[in-house]
Amino acid sequence: MILDSHGREINYLRLAVTDRCNLRCTYCMPHDGLQWLQRDELLTYEEMLRLCRLLVSKGISKIRITGGEPFARKDMMHLLTSLSEIDGLSELTLTTNGVLTAPFIPGMKKIGIRSVNLSLDTLDRERFLAITRRDELDKVLDTLRALLQQGMGVKINAVLMDGRNTGDIRPLVELAKDNAVSVRFIEEMPFNGDGADCQPPVWDHPRILQEIKAHFPGIYKIPDAPHATAYNYSIPGYKGTVGIIAAYTRSFCGSCDRIRITPQGTLKTCLYSDGGLSVRDLLRSQQNDELLLATLLSAINNKPRDGWAAEHSRKEGRVLGESMAIIGG
Ligand code: SAM
Ligand code: SF4
Repeated sequence: MILDSHGREINYLRLAVTDRCNLRCTYCMPHDGLQWLQRDELLTYEEMLRLCRLLVSKGISKIRITGGEPFARKDMMHLLTSLSEIDGLSELTLTTNGVLTAPFIPGMKKIGIRSVNLSLDTLDRERFLAITRRDELDKVLDTLRALLQQGMGVKINAVLMDGRNTGDIRPLVELAKDNAVSVRFIEEMPFNGDGADCQPPVWDHPRILQEIKAHFPGIYKIPDAPHATAYNYSIPGYKGTVGIIAAYTRSFCGSCDRIRITPQGTLKTCLYSDGGLSVRDLLRSQQNDELLLATLLSAINNKPRDGWAAEHSRKEGRVLGESMAIIGG
């Protein structure tokens, strides 16, 4: 079992496989994209597999592949298949924008991936274009349909932005009427990659809930899974559920069970920390597994108490517009 110094069990790894993306969501990266990492700055698949095998041997039981856009990296199915074969890994999932994903769904199902998080901030084509700067809504909806047809678990992630997609709250919630999906609204975080100082989100958990209640007065709270980041709700007669992720207000840190590996192979023990251990350098330093694990476990042990402590410990004392794609969303 991997424990941190606050007594939390760490069993969940979010592994970002690339910083590149085929969308340009305004809350995540600038219009012209990022200064993309060079190939040798990224972990190779072999390095990722070694790292994952080691961490699983110590207690990581769930791995989520993220990015950037996972399917923007070549041969993603090759990595997923190898990860799915790791003994002791009980859950392999991924988060995707859905643009390139549909053709891979049968393959993902075959190797045992049971659920996918799909990012979808609006069901309106014009608004989708304005938010993601790409006209790709149809492909994302094809992916959603294909996931449901294949009987995969689906969580829809929608970042809420004042005046941009709050009118989508109602139609997005309605997706849960006939489909067993979990529609989750995420407070916008200051990770937009443009270097600007960000204000706390206007649409925080209470405001989102208030808006949902205005349209769906029968909504009621349901129990949350242990370590869940979403506060979950049900609506009578609905097959799916609705969730709110207080990603900015950070009210779920006390039960946090996760660590991240960024696309450049840095261990981040909190989304809001800066820097972190370069696992890439460690992996390339010819260290044996035992030494490598000892360094990793010691860094994990120092996981900050919560996202506020992590942010205050940054050099600037606050987040200054890093991209979520560089952190590994
Ligand atoms: N490209 C994939 C996607 O969009 O699903 C995976 C990577 S993306 C960085 C992971 C998640 O982070 C997405 O659900 C996205 O909506 C969310 N995200 C990105 N920037 C965010 C921000 N500034 N605030 C809140 N969520 C954000
Ligand atoms: Fe790409 Fe995902 Fe960031 Fe959007 S949120 S720009 S899809 S990495």
